[in-house]
Amino acid sequence: MTTSGEARPWVPLAGQSHRLALEVLLHGPLSRAELARRTDLSAGSLTRLTKPLVEAGLLVEVGPGAGDLRPGRPSQPLDIVPDAHHFVGVKITGDTVHGVVTTLRADVVSSGSRPLDGRTPDEVADVVAGLVEHLAAQVANVTAVGVSIGGHVLPDGTAHRAPFLGWADVALSTLLQERTGRPVVAANDVLALTEATHWFGEGRGHSQFALVTVGAGVGVGIVAHDRLLDGPNAGLGLLGHHSLDPLGPPCPLGHRGCATAMLTTGSIERQVAAARGDLVPYDEVLDLAESGDELARRVVDDAGRALGRLVAVVTNVALPEVVVLGGEGARLAVVARTALDAGLAGDLDPLAEPPELAVQASGFDVWARGAAVIAIQTYVLGR
Ligand SMILES: [Zn+2]
Repeated sequence: MTTSGEARPWVPLAGQSHRLALEVLLHGPLSRAELARRTDLSAGSLTRLTKPLVEAGLLVEVGPGAGDLRPGRPSQPLDIVPDAHHFVGVKITGDTVHGVVTTLRADVVSSGSRPLDGRTPDEVADVVAGLVEHLAAQVANVTAVGVSIGGHVLPDGTAHRAPFLGWADVALSTLLQERTGRPVVAANDVLALTEATHWFGEGRGHSQFALVTVGAGVGVGIVAHDRLLDGPNAGLGLLGHHSLDPLGPPCPLGHRGCATAMLTTGSIERQVAAARGDLVPYDEVLDLAESGDELARRVVDDAGRALGRLVAVVTNVALPEVVVLGGEGARLAVVARTALDAGLAGDLDPLAEPPELAVQASGFDVWARGAAVIAIQTYVLGR
């Protein structure tokens, strides 16, 4: 059973209620006049729509005189109650599960991780359920759990294809729902992070943006006209084998200089190891490059240039205002920024305005937070 303590299950918002709550969630506190302007709602509609949201404890009046319900009272700004709901977000990789617990505003309250000793669906579900309960115990209530994986996830929460785990057609959300007794939603990790970036991150306020992730894999998420581009092939990592450097190393499929060969943390580690004779962890390769080590600098700059070329492909096709660079390997974009800019400029039309670039914090909390945002969208705000 859930521990939300609510008398009846929350029904995700839709239509005008969704728009209104979303405006307050993303931009609040907002005065009623400002809310009316942003949503094109009349004062009467606004009052009618906000009343149940205030009664449900999702919205609250803030500022001096808040809660004064007498007729003719001064209009109080409305804000979301961030602690009205909490969410656990979990990212499953090939060897670890990472989790966070967040508020309704996706602020991370606590985080943790557990190693995966086995990769069968039952073994993974046991580890995830243990982490979920550990994180849920840190807050008063958890409304829902979001889980993300690298791979293709069907709308019903089935992991149709998850190569990092060797899975095909695993009923992931059902399995975890049974283990935890909580509502669970599963999604592709890049799509989840793109949604989180749109609502609560560097993509906020942009109706057109792209997220490019580098780490164990390479991913691209695109938002156009304020909507996430989704489809049956989303989550396959479609640009992962896009050719970026004819002189680059081969990927496991034999493509020379494809995005996987040039940009994944494992491939960057292998290139340095092949030349040095010992394995240097990814972050230390970046440290070495920063401190002027010639070999590390060359590998990292080649990767940076390739990343710039990948950003150019996305920019030329999707016309983003901002390209956000994320994923656990995102620090590459900082360390190799000069090479990245050169790779990007080289593949853009000279008349094209280059997109603004933003680099997300590296690490797995960001991925897990993306999973929590999918739970926020699915179980509270609606999409
Ligand atoms: Zn390849």
